[in-house]
Amino acid sequence: MTIYERAVKTWGKEPQMLQVIEEMSELTKEILKNVNRKKNNIDELIEETADVEIMLEQLKCCYGIKDQVEEYKAGKLLKIERRLDDWEKTHDHTAA
Ligand SMILES: [Mg+2]
Repeated sequence: MTIYERAVKTWGKEPQMLQVIEEMSELTKEILKNVNRKKNNIDELIEETADVEIMLEQLKCCYGIKDQVEEYKAGKLLKIERRLDDWEKTHDHTAA
């Protein structure tokens, strides 16, 4: 059993899913501080990004959707890659 599965089993689905939301809001707050208020908060961004990733792993355990997320993500990344290729073809990037 993974640590993520153990956490969900021990502390329960609902509390852990509420924790996902809490961690996402903490990361949101740090991003806003960084972008809007130009705050140097790299340490906080590192911490909150890790917290969110840990909670997203638990979310995938809770709903049993790890494989489906991976599959969707792979497809999405291919689309993004194609859009980037198109973008680079139609925009001048020699100036930079
Ligand atoms: Mg946090």
